[in-house]
Amino acid sequence: MPIKPADVNESRIINADHEPGNWMAYGRTYGEQRFSPLNQINDQDVSQLGLAWYYDLDTNRGQEATPIVVDGVMYFTSAWSKVFALNAATGKLLWSYDPKVPGNWAVNACCDVVNRGVTAWNGKIFVGTLDGRLIALDATTGRRVWETLTVDPNFRYTITGAPRVVKGKVIIGNGGGEFGVRGYVSAYDNETGKLVWRFYTVPGDPAKPFESPILARAAKTWTGEWWKLGGGGTVWNTIAYDPELDQLYIGTGNGTPWSAKFRSPKGGDNLLTCSIVALKPDTGDYLWHYQEDPADAWDFDADEDIILADLVIDGRARQVLMQAPKNGFFYVLDRTNGALISAKPYTFVNWASGVDLRTGRPVETAVARYQGADPAPIVPGPVGAHSWQPMSYSPVTHLAYIPVNDAGFKYKLPESFEAKKLAPNYGIDVVAAGLPQDPKVKNAILATVKGKLVAWDPVQQKAVWTMERTGPWNGGTLATAGNLVFEGTAGGNFEAYRANNGEKMWSFRAQTGVMAGPVIYQASGEEYVAVLAGWGGVFPLAAGEVSFASGRVRNVSRMLVFKLGGKASLPPAQAVEYPQLTALPNPASAATIRKGEQLFQSYCAECHGDVAVSGGVLPDLRRSSTLADDTWFEIVLQGDLQSQGMVSFSKELSRDDAFAIRSYVIFRRNQDALPEKR
Ligand code: CA
Repeated sequence: MPIKPADVNESRIINADHEPGNWMAYGRTYGEQRFSPLNQINDQDVSQLGLAWYYDLDTNRGQEATPIVVDGVMYFTSAWSKVFALNAATGKLLWSYDPKVPGNWAVNACCDVVNRGVTAWNGKIFVGTLDGRLIALDATTGRRVWETLTVDPNFRYTITGAPRVVKGKVIIGNGGGEFGVRGYVSAYDNETGKLVWRFYTVPGDPAKPFESPILARAAKTWTGEWWKLGGGGTVWNTIAYDPELDQLYIGTGNGTPWSAKFRSPKGGDNLLTCSIVALKPDTGDYLWHYQEDPADAWDFDADEDIILADLVIDGRARQVLMQAPKNGFFYVLDRTNGALISAKPYTFVNWASGVDLRTGRPVETAVARYQGADPAPIVPGPVGAHSWQPMSYSPVTHLAYIPVNDAGFKYKLPESFEAKKLAPNYGIDVVAAGLPQDPKVKNAILATVKGKLVAWDPVQQKAVWTMERTGPWNGGTLATAGNLVFEGTAGGNFEAYRANNGEKMWSFRAQTGVMAGPVIYQASGEEYVAVLAGWGGVFPLAAGEVSFASGRVRNVSRMLVFKLGGKASLPPAQAVEYPQLTALPNPASAATIRKGEQLFQSYCAECHGDVAVSGGVLPDLRRSSTLADDTWFEIVLQGDLQSQGMVSFSKELSRDDAFAIRSYVIFRRNQDALPEKR
């Protein structure tokens, strides 16, 4: 019997299959398969699955966390890095912890103030906070044991990913690849919070000594003065541990800025961006890497979940790792040495025709480098063919279950690039990327935006079954020995499918978009399926009207837990209403509106939506009452709403700039107010 809550250790995680009622680590096991041997809930009885309990959260921001369940207690995070411990059978709150992330730090977050979860070890719960702290909490009381700042607060780092604990060390990375940071992953002693090692993913200023031999090698693949913008290569999501080989695998993100031309003007692969890297967990020493996107120019992070498995390929047993990163190719690597075994597109892509198995490099198409005067429509775009929503792998069906996004993007190089402190640094033409308002052009683009759940055979490298969705940004997946796959949808359902053939077996109306990874566990002898619901993240924040393809849902942030025969019900859903916009007077000149468009797309669109259309999570500025009075300037220039994340932009924007932005928003409102547009 465990003697204390969250009494997790290496042996318990490695032997997780001996206690399948627990979900003790982010991906359940170190191999991150998100497969559970539980089968009381199965494809014969799942129709009787009903809501057991739910727990409402005090936020309307995106929910991305996978809960950890240990010995009857569920631990998870919500937006703003808050931590909750609930009785896993009843949903009763045991404790909660608010790290009090300053609201104004949100301006440094590319992708909502989300958090993907905690990790548990030896009676403690660990969380990384949006403002870069790593905090250890007592699992019994929720009281803070230690806290350490993992970043330099002079740079725009954020933590949204879940830590892992490996051999007593808490492993954590960070994000900020669009904001001028240098990527790294760190290991901290779980007892003391002391730094044990740090591995930088990109070289720093070559005038100073390199921190590791691989960085000296990597520096030869960069040109220009990349270190001045940090370089990027952030480890914002995936960390997997391999107890068999004693290797740690991390995924790295894009370089800063996105466009290779402005990042590394005389070429080079820019190692170790957009790569899978293997490290020694005791020291952080480099072992090997595989770069998926040399000289990335599209924000094709390799931060999507890495899954470890043993596969038989061409009659040979192989220890592999698998990843379906943003770039649309499904990679199978030999994880003993990083050698590429296979890579095939798991959905439509047009930036590369394939991956050369001899060199390991993508074969880029003519459109890929967007050299022309017109924007190049490239698929996938920065949202990725698959992003952080966890995929799962079933060793029973031998299939990986991937939440796939089909959404392209128009890339065009701007004439010049100047780094900003209060805006993301893309190094692409943000006005050209905007959704055109000509209805014919717009509708043609919107018609291409789709999503799907794909059951992928990683040996044959082909889809075995596919469930079409109306749009992207559907939930992470869970596979079970009950021949089931669970997935939430962006449109507001939580669903179960037969794992072997994709037959839809069960659906629950969740009242909000469901993005997070589900888990299954036992408490008091019964099986429960849990998923954190709550629409948000980068897609509804940044993609504007494109995000409506997935369904116009509101955010209802809530833990949903199901069991066979569950009889609970949700309170009635509030209807979402979008009153017809009425035109406002707009005295600004066409030049002012054009200037406002440029500024809006640079500074505002990341959160308030492409071309001023909100995806429904943050305020739609076309509908703002501040369009008509001076409150607009007080918010934009004085920071009246900074506690909610809307800081003052007065360091980079003048009153004339703020006026131009408002004029553009009014222009957009008036465009959409015309009756024939809707
Ligand atoms: Ca990125």
